[in-house]
Amino acid sequence: MCTGCGAELHPYLEDDIYGRWQRWQFPPCRPCDARDQERWQKAERIASLGLAPRHAGMTFEAYEPVTDSQRHALERVRAGGSLWLVGLASKDGPGTGTGKSHLSVAACIAAAEAGAVHVEYHVAPELYARLRGEAMSEGMEDTVRDLCECDLLVLDDLDKGRKTPLAAEVVYRIAEERSVNGRRTLVTTNSRPGEVAGLFREGGYGPAIVSRLRGLCDVLTVEGPDHRLTARPEFPEARKGGTNR
Ligand SMILES: [Zn+2]
Repeated sequence: MCTGCGAELHPYLEDDIYGRWQRWQFPPCRPCDARDQERWQKAERIASLGLAPRHAGMTFEAYEPVTDSQRHALERVRAGGSLWLVGLASKDGPGTGTGKSHLSVAACIAAAEAGAVHVEYHVAPELYARLRGEAMSEGMEDTVRDLCECDLLVLDDLDKGRKTPLAAEVVYRIAEERSVNGRRTLVTTNSRPGEVAGLFREGGYGPAIVSRLRGLCDVLTVEGPDHRLTARPEFPEARKGGTNR
């Protein structure tokens, strides 16, 4: 009997290669084998996203919208397409933790679960730092190509971190390339698009970046109380980081 599904498996006698003896073998349960394989491949694809431990468990199912704009954002991110999520606190507060990072991570996990697609998730300040390091080597062009050509790109907290001329130029190239080709892109910020244009002052790229991104993405405002305070406690790992990234 299969220990997975209880199906009856019929043993058969197998000869050893020299024909000296025989022994009973059980065939594998094909449906269970296929299911295991699928589950394993899904896990592999999610692992290959390279998400940080703080992102563990940030699925659509674990997201609990409190406000109408959060419910709307969940629906829209789930439906696919390119979006720019602007996090705003409903009363006072910094507007961080409204769940926009959770939603963008969930989109990556869902895409990886659904099939073998090239997904790139980046917290922008970490990406800018990495680009500074790679600028001296040829590695940077490979990174930029991945960012331009992947099936789904998330740039989380695009407005945070040091926006050097290099960062501004790379973000511009990404925005241009992806908008021309209509590639699915999710951007999150705590600043409104007009403010983001001012943040990428260096080299005068700001307005061009914002106009490309606005052409590609629908802008959605996600208002809410700090999501980290209302999130369910099942995934303490996901919240250990403290900062909303
Ligand atoms: Zn079975």
